[in-house]
Amino acid sequence: MLKARLRGGILNKVRRGEYRCPLPTGLVYDEAGNVTPDPDAQIRDTITHFFETFTRVGSACQTVKVFRKEGLNFPSRRVGGDTVFQPLTMSTAMRVLTSPRYAGAYVYGRRRYRRAADGQQKVQEKHDSSDWLACIPNAHPGYISWEQYQQNLKLLASNGRGYEMARGSPPREGAALLQGRAVCGQCGSHFRVRYRSTRGKQEAWYICDRAYRKLGDPDCQSIAGRPVDEAIGALVAERMTPAAVELALEIRREIEARQQEADQLRCRATERAQFEADLAQRRFMLVDPNNRLVADTLEAEWNDKLRLLAQTREERERARQQDQVLLDEAIRQRLVTMTTDFKKLWNDPTTPNRERKRLLAYVIEDATLIRQPLEGITRIQIRFRGGKTETLTVPNPKSSAQQVKTPRLVIQLVEMLLDNHIYSEIADILNKQGLRPGGSARPGRSNARFTALRVKYIVHQYVLRSRYDRLRDRGMLTIAEAATRLSVHEATVVTWAECGIIARHAYNAHAYLYELPETNLPAKHSSRWDRISDRAATFKICNKSKPEDPIKRGVV
Ligand SMILES: [Zn+2]
Repeated sequence: MLKARLRGGILNKVRRGEYRCPLPTGLVYDEAGNVTPDPDAQIRDTITHFFETFTRVGSACQTVKVFRKEGLNFPSRRVGGDTVFQPLTMSTAMRVLTSPRYAGAYVYGRRRYRRAADGQQKVQEKHDSSDWLACIPNAHPGYISWEQYQQNLKLLASNGRGYEMARGSPPREGAALLQGRAVCGQCGSHFRVRYRSTRGKQEAWYICDRAYRKLGDPDCQSIAGRPVDEAIGALVAERMTPAAVELALEIRREIEARQQEADQLRCRATERAQFEADLAQRRFMLVDPNNRLVADTLEAEWNDKLRLLAQTREERERARQQDQVLLDEAIRQRLVTMTTDFKKLWNDPTTPNRERKRLLAYVIEDATLIRQPLEGITRIQIRFRGGKTETLTVPNPKSSAQQVKTPRLVIQLVEMLLDNHIYSEIADILNKQGLRPGGSARPGRSNARFTALRVKYIVHQYVLRSRYDRLRDRGMLTIAEAATRLSVHEATVVTWAECGIIARHAYNAHAYLYELPETNLPAKHSSRWDRISDRAATFKICNKSKPEDPIKRGVV
């Protein structure tokens, strides 16, 4: 009964936002019982810096990394009430980001405590603010606005590792520009980025493998990153010049401001150490020298504080030197020139990929990719911030098998040349025209040339009609047929052909087919006074009166 009435009283107070509950680090009750930011400037500044960093990098994990890199610690209130600074952890970052009190809201009942059957207390977290017993926005001063808080929650949710739903991801270090921003045109989920190293070069791939991971179905689509990224990069560099200057300037200002901020925080840490050392000294001075035991303890404490002070100072000096190196005059100059030209900033190889992606995030909402293998292209539909859309198409990169494939032009040429030439001649003609076999695309084979063997391979591989068949189609005879027709020995046919009495056509490097005149067949005839060379001459004169047959151009 009593408990219920007590509870009722608490709930009434809670609804009015008057019930005092423990505050997170960085907020305190003043004498009048109002919630105010901590009077300690170092605590306040660190928390402000934390929220600014999160807005800048867009993820809790990256914020923790930035704090670690800058050597900054985060305040944490101990049970006794004193505050210690310790390295920022992921859980602290999440707790601070999800706490509505930093947004100046009075809340109560975000968690439900229950005792289970085994006596263990169970805590159930309620994520929806409408389930809380009280949620009064703008009840007291905070570090961020209520809108900012809502936005942060949304960002955290979209960063969360949900495999099922389509989700973006905060910019990371990898080279794939559209990381977290590329949407599969087939199924609508976000692409994953995979990196693969081929011959020492790292290649990015956009892969939609959700179906595979969930059901073992084949991958939806995988798209090579390089052509897509190049097209996007070119588009962004071309389009965004006017707005870019502003943007680049802002980035520069941000870098400088961040360094100043970090230095200020370190300065505060030194001041605090100094203060504590002074305090320890005063305590030591005030103690009765006869009380040896206490004096010894206080002296040790004083020494500790002094050591801590020296350490903090040293750290600040080191960090400041590091910053100085970073903002060296030459670099400052480069930043200034860079700010005038977005294109340069974009194309500068020293610009980290993450910064480039952040620049891209200002410009592009997302890009939908559809690979169309039949046409050999990938279609990119870009949605700009502000609602404009644009479609780009890029050719798909050739697979290694396609790279070494003989070009269609060469095959057509071989097909044409086969009418009048043998393999070795075709190879010479192709080489003279500057054509190279497909295998020359392989690394270290750039000086490969066409040979008779390669031409033969092409003829067989692409099932071109052989030169032998072509000549036979034109009515050419084999040596046996010619010998029968002329009623002479095969050796005589060869002799006559060598002297030019009858025509012969090579169909490979050492084999011929024979072409006999329709009338006036040469007859076997042997005489001392009518030598074969003289007969050949008369034959040539007789045949000259006839128009030149185009087939004869190939006579060997
Ligand atoms: Zn897909």
